[in-house]
Amino acid sequence: MDKELLYLKLPIFLQNLACSIEGKRIQKNRYGGAFNEILQEYESRSYWDNDQVARFRGERLRSFIGQAFKHVPYYREMAGQLGLAEKDFAGLEDLQKLPLLTKSKVQDEYSRFLSGAITQNHCITSHTSGTTGGGLRFSVTKRAIQEQWAVWWRYRRWHGIDFNTWCGYFGGRSVVPLDQKKPPYWRYNRPGRQILYSGYHMNMENMGAYVDHLRKKRPPWLHGYPSLLTLLGSFLLDKKESLGYQVKWITIGAENLLPNQADIMERAFGVRPRQHYGLAEGVANISECPIGNLHVDEDFAAVEFIPNPEGLGYKLIGTNFTNPATPLVRYDTEDLVELEEGSCPCGRPGRIVKNIDGRKEDYVTLKDGTRIGRMDHVFKDLINIREAQIYQSVPGSIQVRIVKNSSYNKADEKQLYQELVKRVGSDTNIEFLYVEKLERSNTGKLRFVLSEISEGKL
Ligand SMILES: [Zn+2]
Repeated sequence: MDKELLYLKLPIFLQNLACSIEGKRIQKNRYGGAFNEILQEYESRSYWDNDQVARFRGERLRSFIGQAFKHVPYYREMAGQLGLAEKDFAGLEDLQKLPLLTKSKVQDEYSRFLSGAITQNHCITSHTSGTTGGGLRFSVTKRAIQEQWAVWWRYRRWHGIDFNTWCGYFGGRSVVPLDQKKPPYWRYNRPGRQILYSGYHMNMENMGAYVDHLRKKRPPWLHGYPSLLTLLGSFLLDKKESLGYQVKWITIGAENLLPNQADIMERAFGVRPRQHYGLAEGVANISECPIGNLHVDEDFAAVEFIPNPEGLGYKLIGTNFTNPATPLVRYDTEDLVELEEGSCPCGRPGRIVKNIDGRKEDYVTLKDGTRIGRMDHVFKDLINIREAQIYQSVPGSIQVRIVKNSSYNKADEKQLYQELVKRVGSDTNIEFLYVEKLERSNTGKLRFVLSEISEGKL
């Protein structure tokens, strides 16, 4: 029987035990072996200057490319065709000698991206879910997984979060059976110090139970999808209540943080969410520092910013030099960013990213085919909107789906309409639809723009 189906049939106390056993196994993968050493190395580079990290990145990049040319069929062939060798790669700029890599290429030719020099029993096969097309499968070394967790923990520790901090986790894992109709809507991973709150039971009827439980357990750290934490925050604001204890940290992942979500969380929990950007492929990582700037973790991956040919901002391209098992060189993340000039007064190195603009597909298409991004900004300051989604099936027409709270009124709708017109123009047909809840993907994520317009249809 499927492990997950079996889990869902267990009594609650055994589900808690299973979460803890799984938690223990995950702890070992992430934080076993050389993890402590790796974390120390990462932290020792926290205050290097930009030249130092650039040199470090250049050295890692060169030997990584050299190994790929030697042991990975796809790159071996490419090196031959282009007449390139390891010595041709000393820094980030040299990557331009190689072509960009798309996700579909890796999907289609997966086996040609695997290194012959890495024995598969030192590896784990990783999967990405993928919101649009299919997911990606790739092999990753155990050490690469630990490096990724080291760069994530470096960021957490910048903010004062440590390994023994209890975390209320609001994510997409289905830890509570969908047909369970009464609390507890949470399970415990004790070794991982996590209370795993179900993201699939967070309707207004059940939310009081979540709040009561948080008040009782008082986890100082909340982590998860911004859309779920916003639902919780919005419930509290609506009831004019607070959690009754000071949440010290909110960190978010998996979805883009929208400005009105950050506002709602700050008002409800008294602390501003911190964000980082990372992806399973390990081709880039970006971390928010205590001052609030987003630093590229230059010692973790070779990140390139290429002007976006379709509009504003830059395409985020990355090379995963931590993972020799499946080298991804100049991999297109399909994410867009805006950049900030200069360096950060916190003293940490790295280029500064102003905005992580989200996925390429988070766009609205106008009548004439123009695509408009950053639609999330129209919801800024509209804290009476619990959740929103823009649905589009034909160019030039959008449906705005809104879950409102009890204070929502005509003035909010008017303000939203005006903000929308500023972005999409008055010849775009705008329809408001008020709904009880928004549909989430099968991994529980909320897509902000749901568009059925494919590029081919334009
Ligand atoms: Zn900083």
